This record gives sequence, C-alpha cells and structure tokens, in this order.
Amino acid sequence: MNADRLFDSLRQQVTGLVPGDMDIASIEFEASLIVVYVRNYEKFSGNQDIARKLATTLRRRVDIRPDPSTLEAEDAVEERIRGMVPEDADVTGIIFSPETGEVTIEAVNTVAVLGDAGSLLQNIRKETGWNVKVVRSPPIPSKTISDVRGYLRHYSDDRQKMLKKVAKNLVRNTIEGDDWVRVTALGGFRQVGRSAALLSTRNSKVIIDCGLDPGSDSTPYFSIPETLPISDIDAVVITHAHLDHCGTLPALFKYGYDGPVYCTPPTRDLMALLQIDNIKLAYGEAKKNLYDAKDVRNEIMHTIPVKYGETTDIAPDIRLTFQNAGHILGSAIAHFHIGDGLHNIAFSGDTKYEKTWLFNPAVNKFPRLETLVIESTYGGKKDYQPSRKDASEQLGEFIIEATKSGGKVLIPVFAVGRSQEVMLVIEELERTGAIPSLPVYLDGMIWEATAIHTAYPEYLNSTLRTEIFQKEHNPFLSPIFHRVETADMREQICHSAEPCIVLATGGMMAGGPVLEYFREWADEPKNWLIFVGYQSENSLGRTIQKGRSEITMPFNGKSITLHVNMNRETVDGFSGHSDRKQLMSFIEQMQPRPNRIIVVHGDDRKCTDLASSIFQKFKIQTVAPQNLETVRLR
Ligand SMILES: [Zn+2]
Repeated sequence: MNADRLFDSLRQQVTGLVPGDMDIASIEFEASLIVVYVRNYEKFSGNQDIARKLATTLRRRVDIRPDPSTLEAEDAVEERIRGMVPEDADVTGIIFSPETGEVTIEAVNTVAVLGDAGSLLQNIRKETGWNVKVVRSPPIPSKTISDVRGYLRHYSDDRQKMLKKVAKNLVRNTIEGDDWVRVTALGGFRQVGRSAALLSTRNSKVIIDCGLDPGSDSTPYFSIPETLPISDIDAVVITHAHLDHCGTLPALFKYGYDGPVYCTPPTRDLMALLQIDNIKLAYGEAKKNLYDAKDVRNEIMHTIPVKYGETTDIAPDIRLTFQNAGHILGSAIAHFHIGDGLHNIAFSGDTKYEKTWLFNPAVNKFPRLETLVIESTYGGKKDYQPSRKDASEQLGEFIIEATKSGGKVLIPVFAVGRSQEVMLVIEELERTGAIPSLPVYLDGMIWEATAIHTAYPEYLNSTLRTEIFQKEHNPFLSPIFHRVETADMREQICHSAEPCIVLATGGMMAGGPVLEYFREWADEPKNWLIFVGYQSENSLGRTIQKGRSEITMPFNGKSITLHVNMNRETVDGFSGHSDRKQLMSFIEQMQPRPNRIIVVHGDDRKCTDLASSIFQKFKIQTVAPQNLETVRLR
C-alpha cells in the first residue's frame, strides 16, 4: 500500500473510533504521530482517554489538538490568562506553540493556576480554545532554552514539512526477503572519542551517535559504502550531549543528511550549548571548524525529542525507547525493537550504575533484549573507583589543607555534569561546616549548564528534584556561588589575596578560562590544582597532573612556558562512568540477560579485558570490534 492510501485508511479508522460529536477539521501525520485537529477542542481538552484508546487500537501515538483556525490571537490570550490567574500564582512566562495549539504557563505557584481540583485551568482552556498546560518556573532561567524555543518558532513551517516527510518515510514500501540485522563500527570502537555506529536491517539504516574526538578532532567513518548516500539514512539517534557522542552531528547536515535526530529534550538543549561553544573555541584557536551556528540551528530544527520510557517508530521496522543512563543530564540508553520481535538491541552510550548527587542509576531492565552495546572507559581489571561519599570527603580535606595557608583552589571541570556535582558537594561541605566558608567562583558555561539542569527536574534524582524547587534549599542558588561574567571580574579574582575556590572550564585544560587562572597561580606553591575528571592521554591536563615542573601551553594564540610550583592533586570517584565493578554488576543484575554483548568506548586493552571477563563470568558471547568492522546479529 502506498503512503497516501495508508494514511487515508488510518484517517477512516480514527474517524470511526472517536466520539460522534467530535468536530474533526483534519487528520495529519507528523513523524510517528497521528494528529487529530478538532474544531470543538474545548469539549475534549484534558480528556486523555480518547487519545489513549486510539493509540492502543492503532498502535501509534495520537495527539488531539485544536484546529489552528479556532485559536484566538496570542496577545489576546496572554492578556486573558493574566486576567484570570491570581497574583499569588507568580506567573514568570507564557509560552505559545502555535503548531501544536499549546500554551504553557510557567508559574512559581502552579497550584494557584490549577485552581480547585483543576477548575481554573479547565476554565482557561474553555475560554481560550488553546491547550493550556502549567509547569513550575525553572529556578534559573536559561538562555540556551529560550534560544532553542526561538529557533523552533522561526523554523516552524520547515519543521512541519520535515515531520510530514518523516511520517511518509515511516510507511514507505519495504523490500521482501530474508531478515537480517547488523551493527557497523563507525567510530569510538576500541577507543574513546568520535562514537558512532550504524544499525542496519534489510529495510532501514539508523546511525547511533555522531561524535568528534576532542583530542584529535577526528570524525567517524561516514564515507564507507554502507552509510552512503547519507541522505538514505532513516534516523540519527543521540545517546547524550557530550561532544564525543554528538560533536560531528551538525556537519552531517552539510554532508547531505536531511532526516530526523532523536534524543531526549535535555540532550537537545545541552547539545546545542556544547556545539556552539565548540565553534567559539575553534574560532579562538584559529582552527578550521567542521560547521557553524547555522548548521547547529538546522540540527535543532530536525530534532524530535523523546522522553524516557516513550516508544516511537523511527524506521519502517524499528522502534526506539530511551531509558535513563545515569551519566549526564538527559543521557539515555537507546533500546531498539526491530521487526515484529526479530531482534532487540540496546546501545547504552555512557552509563553510571550508581546513584549520584544528580541522577538515579542507569536502567538495566528491558521488556526484551538480545544484544547489549556497553562502554568500557573504566572497564580494565584495576579500574576501581572510590564511592561518591569517599570522593566528597577527600575533596573536603584537600580544600581545608589548601586554604589553611591562604592558598587558592582551582578545579578544572566540564561544564556539563561534573561541575554540578562538585557544586553540590562544596555547598554541602560549607553548609555543614566541614570546610570554612569560602567564595566559589564559576567560570565558563557552568552557570548556563546548571540552568538547563534546573529546567528539567524530572531528569534529576528525587532528592535533588525536591530541593531545587524550595528557594531556601536550592543548593545551586546558595550565596557561596558567584558567576564570573566579565574579564575584569576574572582579573580581580586572579589577583585577590583572599583564598577562594574556582571551578572553571575546560575539563582537560585544552582551552577555556581555566588556563587564565592556571597561568596566574601556577608558580605559587600554596595554591592547589585539583583534578576531579578524566584526563585523556595526550591532554595538557594529563601532563600537568603527572607533576611536570615546566609546562608549555597555548595561550591567546601564542605558546607560553610556565614554571609550575602549584600543588597538584586528584580526587577519583566523581566520574560519570561506571567503574569495573559497576559495569559487571550492571550486567549481573540485567533483566533479561542478553545473548551477546558488544564492548565499545574504551582503550584497546580495556575493551578486550572487559569483554573476556564478561565471557568468563557470565558465559555471554562478547565481541570488541575494531572501527569499520561489522557484526551480524541475525
Ligand atoms: Zn559521555
């Protein structure tokens, strides 16, 4: 059946299933979603039963929306809402999404917007005709999120076209024949950096991750016959926003990709933040960049956000479900259900199998699973890390030691993940009096990344989620934190005589504001440099960490040499990656146990070491492919 005939038959089924008094204006198809536009929406708003019934019968997600012709103008609706909502609701924003007929009221006191048993919200819906939703105002406003919303609004026509094209592709005619499933290694196999894999079946091709090697700037092998032409790829799925998993993605659109990108909502925003920063960084170092801001905007326009636990069709024979990976905000394990029960494979991306200050541990229960793809960053026999608690105590002891003699503490961090954890630890140490009260300066994109964390509370662990909405308990808003906003302020901190703590990017000292503090403080023995994150083999961070007394480093486009007398220490245990023990217990406690495990994302020895240990202990078939190799799964 061709796409148009299939759509017509679905339209007939929908019309037959909805209540007779529903005045349907049109039925459209957006990616895997059936959208029913209704003229008398107010009658059905808030009624989830109809959409749920349609979804179970048709095995597709269904959204019922007001027909755009029935929607009152935005200004008028905004005025009306402000008039209806009581003052004490403290409304901080009213956001319109005309393409879905949704208006979101952001308020500090959401209960006041809902009214008695939701009665006020119902009234607002009836009065305006819009699908009105209420969310709690994010405690820290994020520029990235408002920019992303801006792009989506600007590109809304293109986006509608894109979603319709995806919908057609999902129901295209397929080829008959034997079923097969393969995974091809495009990058990040037996290495850390430039992660990418191709999942292919008789009918479909999906790319999982699209990384950039931060050390060498090398990109995945996208020019092999299996991936070409790149325009034939059905979908790109991104597990999380670190650049070694998404740093090449905007360039893919330059190479001719024009299809959808699936990731969680926080991944979309963090990805944009890190990619734009990467462009700026390259510009500062006069390096040629793979892409510019226009390509990042194009990527955002093509992104279809999918929440944890939601299942969506991404190719004629592939369904995707994301689950929490515990690694950074929005990080996901991508589970693919192929064919009608033909094969199930989960790409776990980077995982943390321990409850951290920020997240719940990675999910390892799936309805069905035959193949697991797992990282091995810390998969070596001796890769054991201290617990989060021990790491926090160690950091506290170092800070006391450093500031006793009036020294300053510099902590290089990645903007996303590590810096928020270290902030939480220091806040607790100071609040409980375990360390003296000291100002903590945040330099680089840390504040903006923190703002994005507070905008997605449902992705944080439950303890933190509760805290961030109580103004006086929100640890990120503690008065000990100061945002470094200007070069002057940085200069002042550098030359001040007072002890303090500075968290600055970048995490491996390859660039960013951390180098400015380091340059100023390096020759003073009472100052401390404390590493809390992974330093890759050839990074400047690793060289400094090893204790070299003379360092040559890039600075403002020149190369400078510094004498380093500063004390250097490392606190292990803040990693966002599972260590050896956690990787093994992740597998041990899996439900169901997979038949095969593909080991990736680790140095050569770590990949093979973890693979052989898994085989010995669990008798599960393992494989650690090289880049460019293909594994047949069916
Ligand atoms: Zn990562």
